[in-house]
Order: sequence, then C-alpha cells, then structure tokens
Amino acid sequence: MATWQCVKNCGACCHLDPRDRPDLEDYLEGEELALYLSLVGEDGWCIHFDHSSRECSVYANRPRFCRVTAESFTEMYEIEPEELNDFAIDCCRQQIEGVYGDRSLEMLRFDRAVGI
Ligand code: SF4
Ligand code: SF4
Repeated sequence: MATWQCVKNCGACCHLDPRDRPDLEDYLEGEELALYLSLVGEDGWCIHFDHSSRECSVYANRPRFCRVTAESFTEMYEIEPEELNDFAIDCCRQQIEGVYGDRSLEMLRFDRAVGI
C-alpha cells in the first residue's frame, strides 16, 4: 500500500496562488482565509517559501492549513482519519502536477517515495 510522506526538495504545496485553488473558501474561512491570502506573494508562491532550499522558513510555526495531520485534515476537508493517507497522496499529486507537471522529476520522486 502506498504510504504518504512529504518528500524533500518539492514544495509544490507552498505555491498558494488562489486561482489554482478554486475551492479554497470551502475549507478556509475568516481569519484563516485572510492569513492564507496574506501569505501569497506576487509570483503565487508563499512569502515564507525559500526557493533555494525549497523549504519553509517558518516551519515550526507554519499555519494549520500547512500541516498534514489527521486533525487538521479532518477539520478542513471533513474526511475520516482512515482516509487521510489516500487523500494526502491525492492532494500532493494534484499540487505537484499543477506546479511541476505530471511527468516531472518531483512527481517521479514523490511516487517512488510513497510507493506508487
Ligand atoms: S506537495 Fe506534498 S510532497 Fe510536496 S512539499 Fe507539499 S506535502 Fe511535501
Ligand atoms: S508557511 Fe511554510 S509550509 Fe506553509 S505554505 Fe508557506 S512556506 Fe509552505
């Protein structure tokens, strides 16, 4: 079975451009939505994303919507904890495809890491 994990040197989910996330307001509202929008840089990437290392510069304090946990995903997407693994894999693959392409090195590395 494929098992979700975040792979290094990806960062696709830190591309926050709301135009690529038309359902954003379905899972974020109020202050959290405002926080999300405040993080979007002119290029669509999060202002805290370090492009050279492809890492989050505020990782320890990153917002809830950046955390892949059963708790945050259940709250945001109304999924059951047992659905988290497959749901997170789909989310990552969608995001990686949108940012880097479905035949990108990032996609290959992700698929290999999770066991697809
Ligand atoms: S898209 Fe997935 S694998 Fe890539 S940085 Fe985000 S959580 Fe990690
Ligand atoms: S706060 Fe960090 S983890 Fe969240 S989108 Fe920005 S760079 Fe990525």
